[in-house]
Amino acid sequence: MSAIDLHARASKDFEAKLAETQAVLKRAAAEFSPITQASSLGAEDVVITHIINRLQLDIPVFVLDTGMLHKETQNLLARTRASSRAPVHVYRPVQESVVHFVRREGKDAMYRSIELRKACCHIRKVEPLERALAGKKAWITGLRREQSNARADVPLADDADVAKTGRIKFNPLANWTWGDVWHYIKLHEVDYNPLHDEFYPSIGCAPCTRAISLGEDFRAGRWWWEDEAAKECGLHVKEKAEA
Ligand code: SF4
Repeated sequence: MSAIDLHARASKDFEAKLAETQAVLKRAAAEFSPITQASSLGAEDVVITHIINRLQLDIPVFVLDTGMLHKETQNLLARTRASSRAPVHVYRPVQESVVHFVRREGKDAMYRSIELRKACCHIRKVEPLERALAGKKAWITGLRREQSNARADVPLADDADVAKTGRIKFNPLANWTWGDVWHYIKLHEVDYNPLHDEFYPSIGCAPCTRAISLGEDFRAGRWWWEDEAAKECGLHVKEKAEA
């Protein structure tokens, strides 16, 4: 059974949510430049890129290639770069930092402590993200309130970090359910990561992502050996929370 068969169930107010999302993206593109979409190529992100392309918005996309992505994700990245109207930029970690870290701590360091896992995330994700966002006035993410307790208050437009970064974050799918996301994918035959068909709801680096069982929490497949509270990679964590 595919992820579409399992999950595609539109909310009663799906059309209103879609209109809200389109309005947020149009406003973001009209009022903020330069702007970019951060895509992990997960289900939410392929939906957003699809809407950007349908509306012909001037919003380039970027993907962080950590060097640890599944083959399926790499293949989707290649297909997306070939088919997207919006340019898709790829940011990679500084090779020297990766080589030094792996030489010093080993390839499986992320399993030994939260500190080492965060150090790996910093080299492979956070630093490349900083480069991707440098000089941008706004960025767009696929965060949804339903994804976890930590994301329960995600707003459509998050200006909490503007004073510090000069950048606003838009979360145009904040109000969507997982069923809405898959309904859109089904409706528009959006290309998606086949790992979703193997019970991976949330897809990250290969060593840090696993399939989940029915009834498990949405993010149970990410960093499953850690406590729930530690499970953000730094990409969406406020600075005070990282200290
Ligand atoms: S998710 Fe895992 S492999 Fe990827 S950067 Fe973080 S610790 Fe490293």
